[in-house]
Amino acid sequence: MDGLILEARRLGIAVQCDVEGKLLTSFCSGGRVKYLFCPSSARETTATLQLLKLRGVPYRVIGGGSNILLPDEGYAGALVKLNLRGIGVCGNVVTADAGVPLPLLAKVAAEKGLSGLEFACGIPGTVGGAAKTNAGAFGQMTSDVLTEAIVLTKQGEVQAFPAGCLKMGYHSCVFPEGGVVLCLKLTLTPDDKLAIAERMRRMKLRRQETQPAEPSAGSVFQRVGETPAAVYVEKTGLKGLRIGGAQLSRKHCNFIVNKGGATTEDFFAVAQQVKNRVFDAFGVSLAYEVERICSPKSN
Ligand SMILES: Cc1cc2nc3c(=O)[nH]c(=O)nc-3n(C[C@H](O)[C@H](O)[C@H](O)COP(=O)(O)OP(=O)(O)OC[C@H]3O[C@@H](n4cnc5c(N)ncnc54)[C@H](O)[C@@H]3O)c2cc1C
Repeated sequence: MDGLILEARRLGIAVQCDVEGKLLTSFCSGGRVKYLFCPSSARETTATLQLLKLRGVPYRVIGGGSNILLPDEGYAGALVKLNLRGIGVCGNVVTADAGVPLPLLAKVAAEKGLSGLEFACGIPGTVGGAAKTNAGAFGQMTSDVLTEAIVLTKQGEVQAFPAGCLKMGYHSCVFPEGGVVLCLKLTLTPDDKLAIAERMRRMKLRRQETQPAEPSAGSVFQRVGETPAAVYVEKTGLKGLRIGGAQLSRKHCNFIVNKGGATTEDFFAVAQQVKNRVFDAFGVSLAYEVERICSPKSN
């Protein structure tokens, strides 16, 4: 057996080889991933990254895979998916580990009568991904409630960063380079449980009404200033454009959906046509909200 796998198992870290990339992203595309590490504590995460660095194996940290697309040719390194799942509530302060699914966190906060995370109830990502992308919806975002992030730095130190240091903006957050979010501390606002539940119910309903149910990676393009990208895309008349298994959704034209067997290339072929058409018609260069992960081989 591969020495890396043996060493990881000796350290008690969950690891798999040759995993289907499709199973790791919400768009369900991508080739095989050489190694998938799923550490389940901060200690295991530190040990995983130390081991990968020591062996010279390139790696990327991922969360729920709901904002990323993996390469069709496969990922010839290690993906590290944090399986840290703790949630703690003390008064109006919630601490959540990086691997906690956002809908679960929103539900726990709501049950405790804490407001500020309603937006997260329909976002299929994790706490770590939400910090990195400053996830938000319906006028609320992660940075509104974030007090502190506990980060494993590139140097292997666990450090607390006050939210102000993270320069969180629209779909962005600036960590120390190579840093991995282990845990977030969020400060919420006490509110009536029924009122919170009702807001979440309406948000979920709004998503069901406006967003496609097929596999997707969420919004493809970022807003242009205050204008949603869909405003431009709608005017191109490309709704329904299909290349291979990828289709520009008829329900929400800033979503590309997987109609079955779509590759990452299919996704970007559709996206590129949309970009070209929007640029030709309006002189607007759309920026991706989704992130394309490249295999270390092709870097
Ligand atoms: C149907 C659908 C609806 C969506 N709706 C919304 C929405 O309303 N609002 C919104 O903001 N987004 C939305 N998204 C996009 C996506 O869910 C969010 O961006 C989410 O926060 C990504 O989290 P993730 O755990 O899936 O991260 P991934 O997609 O796995 O990763 C995203 C980035 O975060 C990094 N990352 C992940 N975990 C860590 C960590 N622990 N430490 C450091 N870096 C890390 C990855 O390296 C990558 O760069 C939607 C997606 C889908 C499929």
